[in-house]
Amino acid sequence: MTTAAAPASHRVLARQPAVAPDRATHTDLTADCVYGPVPSRRYGTTLGLNLLPVDEKHCTLRCTYCQLGGENPRKSKTFPPIAQYARELGAALQALAATGTLRGHAIDALVFSGNGDATMHPDLTAAVDVTLALRERWAPGVPIVLLTGGTELVRADVRQAVARLDEVAVKVDAGSQQVFERLDMPWRPIALADIVAAASELPNAVVQTLLVQGSVDNTTPAEIDLWLGHLRTARPLRADVHTLDRPPIEKKLRKVPAVVLEAVAARARAEAGVACRTFAGGLDD
Ligand code: SF4
Repeated sequence: MTTAAAPASHRVLARQPAVAPDRATHTDLTADCVYGPVPSRRYGTTLGLNLLPVDEKHCTLRCTYCQLGGENPRKSKTFPPIAQYARELGAALQALAATGTLRGHAIDALVFSGNGDATMHPDLTAAVDVTLALRERWAPGVPIVLLTGGTELVRADVRQAVARLDEVAVKVDAGSQQVFERLDMPWRPIALADIVAAASELPNAVVQTLLVQGSVDNTTPAEIDLWLGHLRTARPLRADVHTLDRPPIEKKLRKVPAVVLEAVAARARAEAGVACRTFAGGLDD
């Protein structure tokens, strides 16, 4: 588990770094529904949205590199009520609208991330409704992004809810089912191909892929060939390819050199026709 400093909600940026680490993805556990601002390599300065139980990781995957660590076996399953989430988000966006900044920072995006996967919230549709309404009222034009492991996208109601967001970043960390299971360790049996098929039905999907070598290697020619097939099926707006940023739970995983990320991105553009960005420093997700 990553050593957590202060909870994300207590971190306030002194300044925007020239190259911001992606703290809007998955880092320390938070006790709040709304936290930040936090810097993100992908999305700029973001406000984090957490629909998961406080101070507990809640996810459908157990990625071997997760910065939230393992899950608490006694997890509460007490998701924050939508009214509480709406109060916190409304207050933050109202403060942002009043001055143009929140704790000294302009906000580039609102990002569902926090303590796991927001698609697990039992009232996801209401959460999306509230977020869209508050964004329109207090922060029009600020994009809303969801980071997800993608397993719940196989449900039509979940797809319907998240299709209304500006971007859904779906994790596709492998080409083969075997490497997907070894690297991302889903809690319940699910086919990677089903996640990819579900992503293909979204108008706003972005593929996010973490490449690693070592005890699991998703950079082999066979894995990349299969991964390119997933891109051709999913037809995402874009693919974001990154690697480890901090030491993972699985100690035998290794960061991938930038030259490998670039080679994979070049193949995504040329062979799948998908725009691709690389982040050699990782995204923490
Ligand atoms: S999807 Fe994100 S929060 Fe869930 S286990 Fe993987 S890295 Fe952690």
